[in-house]
Amino acid sequence: MSELNLILLGPPGAGKGTQAARLRDDFDLPYYATGDILRAAVKEESELGEEAKSYMDKGDLVPDDLICRVVVERVDSEEARDGFILDGFPRTEPQAEALDQALSGLGRRLTATLLIDASDDEVIRRLSGRRVCKDKGHTYHVEFDPPKNEGFCDQDGSALQQRDDDEPETIKHRLEVFHKQTKPLVEHYEQEGLLRRFDGTRSPDEVNGHIRATLATLRLEEEL
Ligand SMILES: [Zn+2]
Repeated sequence: MSELNLILLGPPGAGKGTQAARLRDDFDLPYYATGDILRAAVKEESELGEEAKSYMDKGDLVPDDLICRVVVERVDSEEARDGFILDGFPRTEPQAEALDQALSGLGRRLTATLLIDASDDEVIRRLSGRRVCKDKGHTYHVEFDPPKNEGFCDQDGSALQQRDDDEPETIKHRLEVFHKQTKPLVEHYEQEGLLRRFDGTRSPDEVNGHIRATLATLRLEEEL
């Protein structure tokens, strides 16, 4: 069986997290979210973790090269032998190039970069409709998953509120940052012929089906 070395990209609210969870289950692949593995390296006090911590303690950004080494350390492990899912890395084109090089140093390469896409309007519609209960954090959506009594949690009756992150103005800002960061990455992977786009406005089952079909085709092509 060939490896499945995958990168996930997508705007907030397009269902990237849901698809990541499905892929983990479908293919039994480890999932590496950059923030999590940086924190894990720091906690384990590995050599790279200590180095990363020295930047984080000062409030500095961890340099590309170091993040890349932390990611590659994970990728070059027994659990990721058959593949991996990366989320949150690479974030920039230099990081993408560093990753390409590091992987080829391991005699591996990316299988595909999966872009779970949705228009800005759709993202705003999805995120700005989210409501969270004050007490336990149960989540609702005014349009897609409304509570029985408007403004109150079905499970515990506590008041529902909108998170600051889900205010339309904040979402617009997050989307601007996302587009600015992601455009060069999308172009990079398009040029390499690795980019595959999926319509994040379809149901999670449909998106999962499309991804699985695409990966099956890629594997067939590889075996030819
Ligand atoms: Zn609740």
